[in-house]
Amino acid sequence: MATLVIRDLHVSVDTEHGPKEILKGVDLTINEGETHAIMGPNGSGKSTLAYSIAGHPKYTITSGSVTLDGDDVLAMSVDERARAGLFLAMQYPVEVPGVSVANFLRTAKTAIDGEAPKLRTWIKDVNGAMERVKMDTTMAQRSVNEGFSGGEKKRHEIVQLELLNPKVAVLDETDSGLDIDALKIVSEGVNRFREQGDRGVLLITHYTRILRYIKPDFVHVFVDGRIAEEGGPELADQLEAEGYDKYVNAGASA
Ligand code: ADP
Ligand code: MG
Ligand code: MG
Repeated sequence: MATLVIRDLHVSVDTEHGPKEILKGVDLTINEGETHAIMGPNGSGKSTLAYSIAGHPKYTITSGSVTLDGDDVLAMSVDERARAGLFLAMQYPVEVPGVSVANFLRTAKTAIDGEAPKLRTWIKDVNGAMERVKMDTTMAQRSVNEGFSGGEKKRHEIVQLELLNPKVAVLDETDSGLDIDALKIVSEGVNRFREQGDRGVLLITHYTRILRYIKPDFVHVFVDGRIAEEGGPELADQLEAEGYDKYVNAGASA
């Protein structure tokens, strides 16, 4: 089982002028095996939602709840969230100078499983995951994300997704900055993850392009810190044709 439930989530961020409310009551349920796309204009709070689920310290939950299979996610540390089965691929993956990809992956896997992976199978698994996203396996010896191209960073996120195999994956603009070949490779990685059948995916994106390769079950339009519209995959087609104007203007006049 893997059900992520977000209820009336309000989140503020600390700014130099004091706290500013970014999320203004988000309700979302991701059941086992479902892929949900969140689509919205820049600045609408999509990344804030992703960071809030992952437990980034900069974001303060002022009210609402997030549960995974009934367990209170907001009461968990960042590590506990990962061990519970939550994974976040960040929009802007951080560089970690001095830590190799190989060590980073092994440390993350060990933290999640509670024991170090068996060395022989692990090396095979890492190489296999890298090869499937067409990452040169020599990159395992390089520092995490340091000097990686945008596409290499996103492929590395997919390698993590495959190796860590969470229950619910939050993918924040995993498509941004990718050329068409990289977009297909990354999408195939997400689809392999989905093929397990019981995994949940929250796919955050500004553009409809990736939804041609990863078919969502539900689409949510995110505007000004809340969900303004919900529907099936056809909603993405409508957004592609009409853009976000209708929703942004509706919010402004309300
Ligand atoms: P999106 O991912 O939809 O583009 P974000 O969640 O990144 O939106 O940002 C939503 C709003 O919150 C923006 O106005 C942004 O400037 C503001 N914001 C997000 N994080 C911070 C922060 N750490 N400090 C100040 N403002 C922030
Ligand atoms: Mg509310
Ligand atoms: Mg964002």
